Amino acid sequence: MTREMTRKLTPPMETAESKAFFDAARDGKFMVPVCAACGKAHWYPRAICPFCASDRVEWREASGNGTIYTFSVMRRVKEPYAIAHVTLAEGPTMLTNVVDCDFDTLAIGAPVRVTFRETENGPPVPMFKPV
Ligand SMILES: [Zn+2]
Repeated sequence: MTREMTRKLTPPMETAESKAFFDAARDGKFMVPVCAACGKAHWYPRAICPFCASDRVEWREASGNGTIYTFSVMRRVKEPYAIAHVTLAEGPTMLTNVVDCDFDTLAIGAPVRVTFRETENGPPVPMFKPV
C-alpha cells in the first residue's frame, strides 16, 4: 500500500549556512554544497569543507538521485513514516524521509529521487521517493 504523507511538517531552521539551500528549494531546486578546492560534495551545509578545510564551498544543483543507505519505519505513531539515510549520487548521505511508497517494499540500496514537501509557514524540505 502506498502511503500519501498528510502529516503537517514543522519548518526547518534556516541558518546562514542553509539559507541558500532553502531559497533554491522554494524554486524546486535541490542543491548540495560542493568544495571548489577538492571537488567533494558534503552534507549538512557548512561554510568550511569538512574534507580539506577550504572555504571555497559553492552551491551546485544536485541530480536529485540517491540510494537508501539505511532506513527505519516509525509505526507506533498516528501516521507511520519512514526515516532514512539516503546517499546522494554526489556522495554525501543525508537524514531524510522516504515518502509516497509502500513501507514494506523499502530496501537498503534501493534507488530514490528527491521530492519536496511543503512545511507549515516555512520552506519546502527535501524528501525522497523510490524510483
Ligand atoms: Zn574540500
